[in-house]
Amino acid sequence: MSWRDLRCGEPRVENEGKTATMAGWAARRRDHGGLVFIDLRDETGVTQLVVNPEHAAAAAEVAHEVRSEFVLQATGTIVRRSPQTVNPKMATGDVELQVETLRVLNTSPPLPFQLDEENVDEAIRQRYRWLDLRRAQMQRNIRVRAQLVRIIREEMEREGFVDIETPMLWKPTPEGARDFVVPSRMQKGRFYALPQSPQIAKQLLVTSGFERYYQIARCFRDEDPRADRLQELTQLDVEMAFPDREFLFGLVERIVERIWRECVDVRLERPFERMSYDEAMLRYGIDRPDRRFGLEIQEATADTRASEFGVFANAPCVRFIAVPTELSRTDVQALENQARSWGAKGLAYIVFRGDGEIGSPIAKFLDADLLERWRSAGHTLLFVADNADLVAKVLGLLRLQLGRELGLVDESRWDFVWIVDMPAAEYDEDAGRWIAAHHPFTRPTDESIEVFKTDPGAARAVAYDLVGNGLELAGGSFRIHEPELQSKVFEYLGIGPDEQREKFGFLLDALAMGAPPHGGIASGIDRLLMALLSEPRIRDTQAFPKNQVGFDYLTGAPIHLTDEQLDELGLRVVEEPADAAVAER
Ligand code: ASP
Repeated sequence: MSWRDLRCGEPRVENEGKTATMAGWAARRRDHGGLVFIDLRDETGVTQLVVNPEHAAAAAEVAHEVRSEFVLQATGTIVRRSPQTVNPKMATGDVELQVETLRVLNTSPPLPFQLDEENVDEAIRQRYRWLDLRRAQMQRNIRVRAQLVRIIREEMEREGFVDIETPMLWKPTPEGARDFVVPSRMQKGRFYALPQSPQIAKQLLVTSGFERYYQIARCFRDEDPRADRLQELTQLDVEMAFPDREFLFGLVERIVERIWRECVDVRLERPFERMSYDEAMLRYGIDRPDRRFGLEIQEATADTRASEFGVFANAPCVRFIAVPTELSRTDVQALENQARSWGAKGLAYIVFRGDGEIGSPIAKFLDADLLERWRSAGHTLLFVADNADLVAKVLGLLRLQLGRELGLVDESRWDFVWIVDMPAAEYDEDAGRWIAAHHPFTRPTDESIEVFKTDPGAARAVAYDLVGNGLELAGGSFRIHEPELQSKVFEYLGIGPDEQREKFGFLLDALAMGAPPHGGIASGIDRLLMALLSEPRIRDTQAFPKNQVGFDYLTGAPIHLTDEQLDELGLRVVEEPADAAVAER
């Protein structure tokens, strides 16, 4: 017996008169005083079933009992709809199935939410994810995800990259997050770390003579989640021996171009533009600029050096953005509070009103010529004065916020840009030391090797990011293949000889045994999909996501272990979190 011989998306007028059996879910049921209409849905589409008690009394009785999401099997005849009842919005809207027999294959209680309901609470959606995934948008997200991965695989295979799996249970691979750890039962007191990325493994693979490696890799990063970050993510992971940056850029561009063309029918222009990290920081205050709107940061340090406004005259750096609206004092106050929360000491402003008036407590201290130069009717200039990093950060964040709030973002535009000439190190305020800007295996530029030692902030790396619409969509670098240089860079990053041996001894040994020059890139698939589909929630790019604090509403994971399990692992829990608190967050 087969469950069906026609899919719900298939019936057309050509099938008129045909006997068919269909199976699927009851998407909607309407009882029209006798006649019962049911929209039967499967993954191919929807067909309308009509059950007429005069033709099929038993089926009509069953149909009266049908509720949303019951699983049905219907046999009947495909008939043409009368002209008044044709539904042009449905692909199958010219016909319907005149039901003769109807079977309920499974029932469902009333649903916790309707599949077409908007703004359903995320916790409820995740709790009933099997229902949530039936919604059209989730069906689209998950199917496009599969399509995207297929395109990636085809392009990688075409270029001769070999798909190699790397361990999930391993030693820590630093990518700047905390590790998820797994206790070992057989070696009590010892732990594996889940990979933050396959970084070290892929370097070993090219050292092993797999000159072109790739993997659709799972990565685990125990970090505080942000809107576009996940603790469990998937990335296209790539490494090549004797690397060629132009080849890698071209490869990624071809993949991205094909994904956009085939998945959303958008043509992207290639090659993508390139911008240095310094320029991005200067103009956009961020290393992943959203260039779909202007509002660029402008320099005012030299212009205000001699001003009578002490804050400007004395600050190492003064910059502003010219917001295309007359902000009120209350608006500016709110923005200033925001800026303070990002570390600024204040926010100075000048409003150039449409009537030519200037509204500003600082204008009187500024040179009249300068004000004339800056004058732009109907604009508000917002200034931050501080060290260059802080000025960039605060104006960059203000720019993004105002760009969105004022609707300046051209949502129809796709903007891709490679950020190059990246810094090698960044200062970690919390730790009070320099850390690798990417990971500690990233190659400094030849000119930077000495600089790194004395002025880590000035050292540059052979590293690059691909940014799309303000999201970091890929990032990679050339690696250090010389063990001596790797040791030196570890040293610069405060990792002494003993710690190097303990943490990375195996890598140093491998580099010493004929590691070729190598480099690669990785691209986060969840985030790529988020950009591609303009999906605001990164968690909705995955079938079974966890919430912001890593709680899984569906299964209740993470779970407690029994005392017996803990004993077996040689573990003792010293701090019990309150369950309710975890679930509610
Ligand atoms: N391992 C890096 C990451 O996961 C990417 C790379 O350098 O290839 O971000």
